[in-house]
Amino acid sequence: MTVTRADTLCELLAGVDPGNDRPFLLDADGGVTHTYADAARRSSQLAHALAARGAAPGERVAMQATKSPEALMVYLACARAGYVLVPMNTGYTADEVAHLVGDAHPAVVLDDAALASLATEADGCPDVFDTYPAGPDDLAAILYTSGTTGKPKGAMLSQRNLASNSATLAGLWGFGDGDVLLHALPIFHTHGLFVATNCSIANESPMVFLERFDADEVLRALPRCTVMMGVPTFYTRLLAHPGFDRERCAAMRLFVSGSAPLLASVHDEFRDRTGHAILERYGMTETSMLTSNPLDGDRRAGTVGFPLPGVDVRVVGDDGASLDAGVVGGVEVRGPNVFAGYWGRPELTATEFTVDGWFRTGDVGTFDADGYLHLVGRSKDLIITGGLNVYPKEVEDVVDAIPGVLESAVVGVPDPDFGEAVVAVVVASGDGPLDAARLRTSAREHLAPFKVPKRVFVVDALPRNAMGKVEKALLRRQFAEQDGDPR
Ligand code: AMP
Repeated sequence: MTVTRADTLCELLAGVDPGNDRPFLLDADGGVTHTYADAARRSSQLAHALAARGAAPGERVAMQATKSPEALMVYLACARAGYVLVPMNTGYTADEVAHLVGDAHPAVVLDDAALASLATEADGCPDVFDTYPAGPDDLAAILYTSGTTGKPKGAMLSQRNLASNSATLAGLWGFGDGDVLLHALPIFHTHGLFVATNCSIANESPMVFLERFDADEVLRALPRCTVMMGVPTFYTRLLAHPGFDRERCAAMRLFVSGSAPLLASVHDEFRDRTGHAILERYGMTETSMLTSNPLDGDRRAGTVGFPLPGVDVRVVGDDGASLDAGVVGGVEVRGPNVFAGYWGRPELTATEFTVDGWFRTGDVGTFDADGYLHLVGRSKDLIITGGLNVYPKEVEDVVDAIPGVLESAVVGVPDPDFGEAVVAVVVASGDGPLDAARLRTSAREHLAPFKVPKRVFVVDALPRNAMGKVEKALLRRQFAEQDGDPR
């Protein structure tokens, strides 16, 4: 039975039990590598091994490890023993890791080598562990997030934050008997670690657990899977694969996308190719998931759907007052999913919440008349040119629709006249010539003059981070000084 209400991870993850012989992890060919009982035993052993290294309830266990079943078992060990997991992006450099470790003061730090030796120590440990009775307000994890600027800050996520959100999603997305989740996401980020993993465990169903997204391997696994969660890049890569078709998706019931905007054109092409409308949802490290398109009902491309049950989302103006449908403003959220604050940063935490307790997401968007939320960008990506606001998404949508354009990113760069100038960085589709001057002429047909990109750069690919987000800060730096150069 799927857990659809939970206040602690132990309630949510109750299926990880020595008496539960259901399959838990599968390889790409469907072979069972771990049952739920295996996971219960292994996570207990690891909980003991971590205790022997000095971990205690409430203390941090930091991990920067290659994705593997054993790394996942460390998460389950922490949930069982009340240790606060601090997963670290595998892309972080030694300096970044040193900063995080200095900030989080973990009792145990695991890299690949340390995890391997912990695993050896765990082999000799008892395979039962008395579950720590964590309360809903106890910390479960600290996830470091930087957006694209500044030093990473640790988002403190409580047991309730994580458990309530995953239980809600498992219910909302119809998890039930027979589901098999395709898991190709990293497990240092909320999407792969909590959304995907927790929904599957709440349902006591198996996951095909892949180390990374590899289109060939995903295609091999797909016929045995019913649900896939991915970042938009996964879907564009699947569409680029000639072997990806309806037949491969015959067993699938749901494709979910999030962490970065899914292009409407990708949504449409995916539906044409597979018959499936990708369900787009929106969330962030600090708040877990906030909104989702409906499971039953119209999944609207270019929108992130409705607020989740129990989660309040509002769009406000500069004065903090709620705005009407159709008006663009700051997105704020309140609910059991919203984090407890930034680790060791009470002043920063205070500035990110309103006096009446809403968290300012930093995203800018608007609800339409039917209640779907549309995101138009991050507030820090807002371009102010000659005193006028330009939302990058509006310009990107116009540029993307111009023949010859595959995708674009629009950023503001310093400009002596206007303060900031609108600049478009464009990837050609290869279907025809792409000329920057013609692109600006086409954009002028749809956009007020101040929104039309002053300069256009054609690049081979947009820089993206591991979660598929376009690195706009990098683009701003890269193109700050350059003249547009038609190709
Ligand atoms: P992170 O904390 O790394 O998960 O990043 C959270 C940010 O990703 C959000 O604040 C949004 O700006 C962005 N994001 C997540 N999901 C979506 C989505 N479906 N569409 C557009 N942006 C998204």
